[in-house]
Amino acid sequence: MTDAVLKQEKGLYKVLDKGFVKLIDFMGGDQNAVDSARVSFGSVSKGEALDRKLIEYLLEHGHFSPFEHSVFQFHIKCPIFVARQWMRHRIASYNEVSARYTEVKEEFYVPASFRGQDKINRQGSVRSGGLDQAKMLAAYDKAIKASFDIYKELLEAGAAREMARMVLPVAQYTQFHWTINARSLLNFLELRLDSHAQFEIQQYAIAIQEIFAEKMPWTWEAYTKLHEKKTA
Ligand SMILES: Cc1cc2nc3c(=O)[nH]c(=O)nc-3n(C[C@H](O)[C@H](O)[C@H](O)COP(=O)(O)OP(=O)(O)OC[C@H]3O[C@@H](n4cnc5c(N)ncnc54)[C@H](O)[C@@H]3O)c2cc1C
Repeated sequence: MTDAVLKQEKGLYKVLDKGFVKLIDFMGGDQNAVDSARVSFGSVSKGEALDRKLIEYLLEHGHFSPFEHSVFQFHIKCPIFVARQWMRHRIASYNEVSARYTEVKEEFYVPASFRGQDKINRQGSVRSGGLDQAKMLAAYDKAIKASFDIYKELLEAGAAREMARMVLPVAQYTQFHWTINARSLLNFLELRLDSHAQFEIQQYAIAIQEIFAEKMPWTWEAYTKLHEKKTA
């Protein structure tokens, strides 16, 4: 876990400055994956040790379908730029708050510090001691405040919510419900826990990883072992 991820209670993590990950519902589990795999040959659980071995075998040999019967439903609050990256994960269901129906609140992501441009990975960033953090934060704050003031001004002048929102920045927080099966969630975690993923979405992945490990400990352990072997 990092400074930007804080466990509040079971299934609820505070993420970044104003976001969260909350598990709303869960169906399935390790035993469910084992039973779904064994239905193919008409057998049931053979005890924990053999069931765990089966999970390892399934993951190692790409037999992922038994994990599709376990399903997580989350409530997520994150900045829009994180949600844009998140929603590229198509094998999942999404329902997001509408800024056409509702007026948005003044809730923007304010980073703890600015990172510098990575010179090698052109998509990435690096922690850099040489940045004038105070100056950057002041400029950022000014831009955010100006956009929200104009949003309010447009609404007061009679503009529709769906048009006034066009001035809001991608640092604005949004919320959505996300339902995803364990197979697809492992793919999400593989990609978004990786050091190449943007810091902000990585923090959400860290919270989700904690929930996954709690709900499907055998699968998470087997996945981690395999991942370490592959990346060693
Ligand atoms: C570090 C990083 C950088 C990225 N940079 C960019 C970027 O610069 N630009 C950009 O556009 N995206 C970028 N992405 C998004 C990336 O290309 C994927 O869209 C995203 O990670 C979702 O992954 P996925 O397709 O595996 O997931 P899902 O959409 O959930 O799909 C899961 C799996 O289902 C299968 N699948 C889903 N849809 C199809 C399909 N249409 N055809 C065949 N198989 C399918 C694939 O096996 C896929 O892996 C980036 C992602 C990461 C992690």
